[in-house]
Amino acid sequence: MVEWNPMEIRETMGKKQKYIFVTGGVLSGVGKGITAASIGAVLRAKGAAISIQKCDPYLNVDAGLLNPVEHGECFVTKDGAETDLDLGHYERFLDLELTQKSATLSGRLLSELIADERAGKFGGKTVQLVPHLTQAIQRAIFEAGKESDIHIVEIGGTVGDYEGLSFVEAIREFAQRVGREKCFFIHVVYVPFLGTSKEFKTKPAQNALGDLRGFGIVPDSVVVRTDLPAPDSVAAKISLFGGIPEENVLMLPNADTVYRVPLTIAESGLHSALTAFSGFENSPDLTGWQRLVDAQSSIPETTVTVGLVAKYIDNEDTYLSVTEALKAAAWEEGVGLDVKWINAETASDEEFKTVDALLVPGGFGERGVEGKIKAAEYAFTHDVPYLGICLGLQVAVVAAARRAGMVDAHSGEFSDTKSNVVYLMNGQEGKESTGGTLRLGNYPAELEENTLAAALYGSQKIVERHRHRYEVNQKFAQEIKEGGLAISGTSPDGKLVEFIEAPKKTYYIATQAHPEFRSRPNRPHPLFKGLIKAALKTLDVS
Ligand code: GLN
Repeated sequence: MVEWNPMEIRETMGKKQKYIFVTGGVLSGVGKGITAASIGAVLRAKGAAISIQKCDPYLNVDAGLLNPVEHGECFVTKDGAETDLDLGHYERFLDLELTQKSATLSGRLLSELIADERAGKFGGKTVQLVPHLTQAIQRAIFEAGKESDIHIVEIGGTVGDYEGLSFVEAIREFAQRVGREKCFFIHVVYVPFLGTSKEFKTKPAQNALGDLRGFGIVPDSVVVRTDLPAPDSVAAKISLFGGIPEENVLMLPNADTVYRVPLTIAESGLHSALTAFSGFENSPDLTGWQRLVDAQSSIPETTVTVGLVAKYIDNEDTYLSVTEALKAAAWEEGVGLDVKWINAETASDEEFKTVDALLVPGGFGERGVEGKIKAAEYAFTHDVPYLGICLGLQVAVVAAARRAGMVDAHSGEFSDTKSNVVYLMNGQEGKESTGGTLRLGNYPAELEENTLAAALYGSQKIVERHRHRYEVNQKFAQEIKEGGLAISGTSPDGKLVEFIEAPKKTYYIATQAHPEFRSRPNRPHPLFKGLIKAALKTLDVS
């Protein structure tokens, strides 16, 4: 890293490569990620090749060990990076499979810098945030954006946060190097509504724009997030005080669905600005997004209730890709979706009874696991459509072994008996609480002929994302079979169980992988589609 010559990025000046930087002011968590992803979706629909990257200023090396209650879902890329959930938005909006390059954290860059320092690579120089960290950030941006027409970079947090300063300085320098005209800066601000005086207050947004200017960046556009639709005077005020043309101020009140945002952008003044900046002049084909918005606003005749048996029920973002995958499947089937959150710690048959289908998503740790086993058992004995994801497969296998008479059957994650039908994967001993050591990313699987899995996928060779440490112990294949389950898919060498199903049940299937990460709003994943269809009793895989 230290040998990198920052002048290298000047070489891109002759090329058509352009960069869009999305920063935030006032508050974080108001939709910078959706804005960045939606802008990408519009440009992609105009024919541009898009790449996208999230820069997060916190000192973690990746998102793998972050508490999901605080941070929401940990998303996994095809090459096994454990990332922030914004990468999930990016993949869904852009229909791309991203890599580690799209997730840049201070912690990772700093640990690499420190490793270089220890290896004596700095030749006696003082190692500093400026220029060393700022250069490392610029290089990460340069590398991530090399292959596209337009590279979008979202900076996490808000401008002015102590820990994010190096990123703000890095993107300012980056624009200076590649040419300011090749960069488009968008600042996403929040404008609150004061109930007492019934007015929108632009002051915090004005201050946020002032902060950004203080760091040497005058944005090309401001996206104004509000809870309710705001009058034009708000945009005029931001334009005036921010020094931004009014047509480049995009008002973005809370939308009924995030998938409306690309449509809103395409109809706005920001679209004209992006057209002029990008040089992609044709109008975007947004029929797919329109279809999604229509599907959501139409009143469905039928609604499917899916019971999601989970432990983090207070933060639905923890299962964001799962709920998005369920929604996508429901929209395609033209039915309403009611996700019923079932607390795994208190789950009972009474609750299971009220749903049309059960889903046990991925999870770590013992809390609530017996409730999840109970859900897998209930779905089997009552023939309720069941989809098990990762831990959801493991609990189904434990339930099967218990049905077959192995009363103490369990997973090695939660017990140390000899009856661990789910056990620690080879090479994972002692790594249980460490970062970056799970089985991560895309892996191929082979599905058995004439199985539900193969019928749903329409293929016997598939690829899915993974994030787990434990796997089915095939030593207990007999017990699992006696419990009513068949192993319907394995790794190509046959060593790892990837899919199980109950051949005698309507829809009882589970995978060791995380299919939700590869579902797309306009292309629902077959396992989720199958679950919704089975719940509707319209599944036909014969
Ligand atoms: N905790 C289980 C394992 O490590 C399941 C992981 C998951 O559901 N992602 O294998």
